Amino acid sequence: MRKYRIAVIKGDGIGPEIVDEAIKVLDAVSVKEGFELSYKEYLMGGAAYDVFEDPLPEETVEGAKEADAVLFGAIGGEKWDSLPRDKRPETGLLKLRKALGVYANLRPVVVYDELINASTLKPEVIKGVDLLVVRELIGGIYFGQPRALEEERAYNTMVYTKEEIKRIAKKAFEIASKRRGKVTSVDKANVLEVSQLWRETVEEVSKEYPEIALEHMYVDNAAMQLIRDPRQFDVILTGNIFGDILSDEASMLSGSIGLLPSASVGEKHGLYEPIHGSAPDIAGQGIANPVATISSAAMMLRFQLGEESAADRIEKAIKEVLHEGYRTKDLGDFDAKEIVTTNEMGSLIAQYASKD
Ligand code: NAD
Repeated sequence: MRKYRIAVIKGDGIGPEIVDEAIKVLDAVSVKEGFELSYKEYLMGGAAYDVFEDPLPEETVEGAKEADAVLFGAIGGEKWDSLPRDKRPETGLLKLRKALGVYANLRPVVVYDELINASTLKPEVIKGVDLLVVRELIGGIYFGQPRALEEERAYNTMVYTKEEIKRIAKKAFEIASKRRGKVTSVDKANVLEVSQLWRETVEEVSKEYPEIALEHMYVDNAAMQLIRDPRQFDVILTGNIFGDILSDEASMLSGSIGLLPSASVGEKHGLYEPIHGSAPDIAGQGIANPVATISSAAMMLRFQLGEESAADRIEKAIKEVLHEGYRTKDLGDFDAKEIVTTNEMGSLIAQYASKD
């Protein structure tokens, strides 16, 4: 039997509630598809600080490295906001990404027909949107040297090596080959040298993927096209800062933060988490939407463990449950037949995903 070890980091706030639902669904599909998952829990963020006075204990890093994949909820909360930067929950997460070498951040955006009115954009513009942003995560201007904050001036440096561009480009082409076969590479090659190298290198890599259609787009145009006609995109490939901005813009096409999953992957490791935070305002009330985390678990099956059919089951089940009119409270205003709790939503998706 195929067996996988999952490192589970529930985190703070609603983290534990939503991760429990994802595990419920994973267990249901693994039984159906004939593989076995074992879970080991680790602490990170505020929960880890409370025990170890460290937001990322060494045993969490080791456990995450040893596992076949990491499933993560969310971290953070007011309680830890006044701690020095190196003790804050967010520092734990940034350090873990670096330690795992997860250089590619994948953010799919799917507009569900049933929730089309949840977006601020017109239904006719967003109906059928299904795109994925592939953002370089551990290079570019956020990490480039030199950097400085002086009295009268400050600067940062946008650096990319050819190797860094190649590996993220390959990731995007490989993913596109399993989707609709189109990559839009976003840069600012008309102004920045670093973008010129980006464009040339992406062109080079594209020769290894003749079946994929490649287009280049300037980032300012891409920001506009995402709102004007988002259906034109399949895979958007871009660097760290452009990807940061464009993926937040793209996430609003779907209208609800509680729905959107993400993956951060490298050569070996993968970290799967919802895009939202720990939502301390609703923690412990049983009203958090677990769909983003359940959807992240589906990405883990697809991208990390190669269990495509189990991932399909989960994604189909989410669509069906939404189609039936079940909504958690955050989506209660959008054609709801019944408002359900976090726990009930997880059970419904597990049940639909187990259907023959
Ligand atoms: P947030 O994403 O936690 O919440 C924003 C709003 O969306 C809140 O009103 C919240 O109730 C709602 N919301 C979020 N997820 C939801 C869900 N699954 N179901 C229903 N409603 C949901 O962002 P915030 O309030 O700015 O931050 C809260 C804490 O989370 C902070 O400490 C922040 O640093 C942290 N944070 C962590 C991550 C992460 O762990 N990756 C990401 C972003 C923010």
